[in-house]
Amino acid sequence: MAKNKYFYNPHKLDFEKVRTSLTTVVFRVFGFLSASVVAGAIMVLAIYSFIDSPKEKTLKRENEQYQAQIKVLNKKIEELGGVLAELQDRDANIYRAIFEADPIDISIRKAGTGGIEKYKMLNGFESSDELIALNEKVDELAAKVYVQSKSFDELGKLAANKTVFLSSIPAIQPISNKDLKRIASGFGYRIHPIFKTHKFHSGIDFTAPHGTPIYATGNGKIETAENGNGYGNHVIINHGFGYRSLYAHMSKMKVRPGQKIQRGELLGYVGSTGTSTAPHVHYEIIKGENKINPINYFFNDLTEEEYQAIREIANREGQSFD
Ligand SMILES: [Zn+2]
Repeated sequence: MAKNKYFYNPHKLDFEKVRTSLTTVVFRVFGFLSASVVAGAIMVLAIYSFIDSPKEKTLKRENEQYQAQIKVLNKKIEELGGVLAELQDRDANIYRAIFEADPIDISIRKAGTGGIEKYKMLNGFESSDELIALNEKVDELAAKVYVQSKSFDELGKLAANKTVFLSSIPAIQPISNKDLKRIASGFGYRIHPIFKTHKFHSGIDFTAPHGTPIYATGNGKIETAENGNGYGNHVIINHGFGYRSLYAHMSKMKVRPGQKIQRGELLGYVGSTGTSTAPHVHYEIIKGENKINPINYFFNDLTEEEYQAIREIANREGQSFD
């Protein structure tokens, strides 16, 4: 209810009612309203700057979760990087060395990810730096893993070839030699039993009773199975990779030329055919055109100690059996 206001009129010596114009009233109402709006706005701003709306609260919480996720991912990437570094190290120093593969150039291993342009869409956010760093790390890791997997592919192929190679080349002794006492004469200059001269002995003689089985020392194909050349009944296996092996003075041959043979399969039996003084097998390994010392090709069935013992026996000077 509006209050009536009065003022004293000295001309009329009386109190008169104050008349308020409509304009004044409108102004006053507006004044009051705008003051209220401003005050209200200030209060709302004050409240909102101290207290978050529910939506803001959710967003803040989400943001904190993302930050935590970035940290976790960073840690995981670091761990993966460590595992990969170990693999690279083993690859370079062991695997590639075993298979005689060329080392991978360090610059290829470091595998550049190229350009910062690709991370452009990550710019302009509060966590842009962290996100870009994270992406760079993941890309770098992916590139390194790719290089590493290519290296393993290459080694896989080399290993497959190596398996064929290792099963082909001569790698055992041609007769069972458990007590290691069968070697009677080694590779090198020896006195020839018949000519009694110092002659180069191009193989190793294993003494064994007449009829002892003689085995193929590596996979291959029978190239020769015949009598002649002072070797008596002799067999030559072609192992591929430039390797051949020869077994001489057999009493009986059990293979034919052209036949495929596996390491450990029977070739024939010990005898004394050809220029020989006693039952034995004269064993040769030929690499390319050269006869080489078979002592280096017994590694498959000997321990380190046995190998040393057999080397010593084979190196003794003495008379060969052929
Ligand atoms: Zn011999």
